Amino acid sequence: MARVVVIGGGYAGLACLVELAKKAPQLKLHLVDARAEHCKTTNLHKTFSRPVEDFTVPYVRLAERFGFDFHQQRLTFDEAELQRWQQQKRLPLGAGRLDFDWLVLSTGATATLEPADEGVYGLQTLQAGQGPALLEEWLNLGATQRVELSFVGGGATGLQVLFELHEQLRKKRADTHLRLIDLGTRTVPQLPDGAHRYIARKLCREKIDYLLETEFRGQKNGQILLTERGSGRDYSLPSTATLLFPGVRRAPFALQSNAYGQVECDGQLLPEIFSAGDCADFAGNGLNLLTAQAAVRKGKLVAHNIRNLNAGRGLRRYRYQEKGYLLSLGPIDAIGWLGWRCNLVKGFAANILKEAMESQYDLFLDGVDTYLGFP
Ligand SMILES: Cc1cc2nc3c(=O)[nH]c(=O)nc-3n(C[C@H](O)[C@H](O)[C@H](O)COP(=O)(O)OP(=O)(O)OC[C@H]3O[C@@H](n4cnc5c(N)ncnc54)[C@H](O)[C@@H]3O)c2cc1C
Repeated sequence: MARVVVIGGGYAGLACLVELAKKAPQLKLHLVDARAEHCKTTNLHKTFSRPVEDFTVPYVRLAERFGFDFHQQRLTFDEAELQRWQQQKRLPLGAGRLDFDWLVLSTGATATLEPADEGVYGLQTLQAGQGPALLEEWLNLGATQRVELSFVGGGATGLQVLFELHEQLRKKRADTHLRLIDLGTRTVPQLPDGAHRYIARKLCREKIDYLLETEFRGQKNGQILLTERGSGRDYSLPSTATLLFPGVRRAPFALQSNAYGQVECDGQLLPEIFSAGDCADFAGNGLNLLTAQAAVRKGKLVAHNIRNLNAGRGLRRYRYQEKGYLLSLGPIDAIGWLGWRCNLVKGFAANILKEAMESQYDLFLDGVDTYLGFP
């Protein structure tokens, strides 16, 4: 029985496994992941008001549902190690080894800057389910003094967290002041200008300060340390805490891959090793951004190609084009585009569409695939 091993059970790794489980039941499937639960990362901003368990699924449950073996382990690798794995068709696992016919690397992305100072929080804080405790702490503090919260990063993640938290604090009438700090000259550069204007107006309306072209240098003794980009002026502002979302990079490194998803190391093709998701840098003109939408499609394409190789058929190129992008701006607001980049959708309607996308992924994990027409 041919064997497929997937390292990393995020959006891409699971899309690949689910597709193979359904369409190639003759393959033996294995998942290796550092964590015990799959995290629906695109919902993490909601974990200030809801437990993180609402957005995680234990891998053992998914393994039972889709018939794969799950191994909890963090596997580290570099290019030389990948070349060895390709040659030996096996990888180390615990005290033993795991043989494979095809290997899929879907290890995602990591933050470009991790929180280092006291009072600085990031993605790992939310993944660890610390959101509600932090919210509680700021609300208690807000009863006696003004709470100043700084958000670093005007990309999709930073904004989703900012507006979600703003709404939670507003509901409780806490005495807080929020500010957004960003190196660039506008928010969400990957979205049309109209989206930035909508967000900038909302920031102004909600009295959230927006410091553009400003670099975050750290947080110390209740102050955030900043540098103005143009003038080089250093200054500090009172800050109870900083939420750090400066962006992500492919992890553990960008896996250069051909348009079929096969990994290339030092210009050498590793034909039995595929990549998918944020870590995968595909050749060709398919959607290559670090988004869940691309991750699911890369995972499905790789599954299709492994199935074809197993059946002695040819490979398909990755050509998926973005169908839209929506960004949540609190529980009842969102902004983004759908169909064509000029077709901006905003407000409550956009929020409903965004939630429908989350439901589509929930359905997928329940075994109902509505990502029709791909690959
Ligand atoms: C707060 C937030 C909101 C977002 N919102 C959106 C959104 O609205 N729309 C959108 O399209 N995208 C959004 N994104 C981006 C989206 O979450 C990512 O693009 C998506 O998760 C990428 O999927 P992936 O499978 O490549 O990686 P991940 O989902 O990150 O999964 C990687 C998996 O690999 C495992 N792993 C990593 N390294 C190892 C190792 N060495 N050994 C074993 N296992 C390992 C991890 O434990 C993890 O389970 C958001 C991201 C964040 C952080």
